[in-house]
Amino acid sequence: MLPDEPPTESLGEIRCLDHGYLALVSTFGQDRDPARIARTSFRNKKVRSLEDDTRLTKYLLRHGHSEPFEFVNARFYFKAPITVCRQIFRHRTAKKNEISYRYMQASREFYVPALERMQKQSESKKQGSSDELIADPAGAHERMRRICNLAFDEYEALLADGLAAEIARGVLPMHTYTEWYWQNDIHNLLDMLGKRLAGDAQGETRVYARAMLDLLEPVYPIIIGAWKELHRG
Ligand SMILES: Cc1cc2nc3c(=O)[nH]c(=O)nc-3n(C[C@H](O)[C@H](O)[C@H](O)COP(=O)(O)OP(=O)(O)OC[C@H]3O[C@@H](n4cnc5c(N)ncnc54)[C@H](O)[C@@H]3O)c2cc1C
Repeated sequence: MLPDEPPTESLGEIRCLDHGYLALVSTFGQDRDPARIARTSFRNKKVRSLEDDTRLTKYLLRHGHSEPFEFVNARFYFKAPITVCRQIFRHRTAKKNEISYRYMQASREFYVPALERMQKQSESKKQGSSDELIADPAGAHERMRRICNLAFDEYEALLADGLAAEIARGVLPMHTYTEWYWQNDIHNLLDMLGKRLAGDAQGETRVYARAMLDLLEPVYPIIIGAWKELHRG
């Protein structure tokens, strides 16, 4: 159980980064649904085994028959830095609802990357970091913590002066934690994971994408297993 739980019960939770987590709130649809739905015209002809359905699921994924997968849905609750939220929100087919610092005061929780994440800017990849650390990872860690704390000092002082929360929030750092519900069908969800687990995706967003996959796998072993197999080779 996490110290600051999602607002509803969940099917499973994974801690992410220093103060974040991901919770699988609910799912809709069964693991064998894509195969069953794809066989609408043949449903009464024969009883299908688990192996039949697994084989068909793989076939559908391999050949891009996406609609049967859109009958299966998953709802998550995220607590993640604003930077991660912005990237996850780019995926347009998802439903999402985020807490708002117009109405809620931000608690003093911000992401400070661990020392091993204090990597140099990569020269080969446009967006990414290289495998090499900067000369003073501990110094960078401390500077990030200090500047975020300073920003929160000012934020809280502005609120104490009576400034509207919607204006005061402008000083919050991009690593401030935010929270949101997120729901999508499994076709578009897996499309997003393909992009956000790739080597050129931001490491922090990859942490959440990996957690999504790990939470979904026990619920949808056929679908996730088939997807992983396809993406390995
Ligand atoms: C490594 C990486 C770096 C990125 N860098 C930047 C960046 O520098 N700047 C930036 O702005 N963005 C950036 N992005 C975001 C990127 O450009 C896409 O907006 C994001 O990945 C969503 O992809 P998508 O549009 O394929 O998928 P989604 O929005 O998840 O949609 C899934 C699929 O649904 C279909 N679809 C959804 N909406 C429509 C529609 N209205 N019309 C037709 N088809 C639709 C499409 O087939 C689409 O592929 C980056 C993404 C990644 C993974």
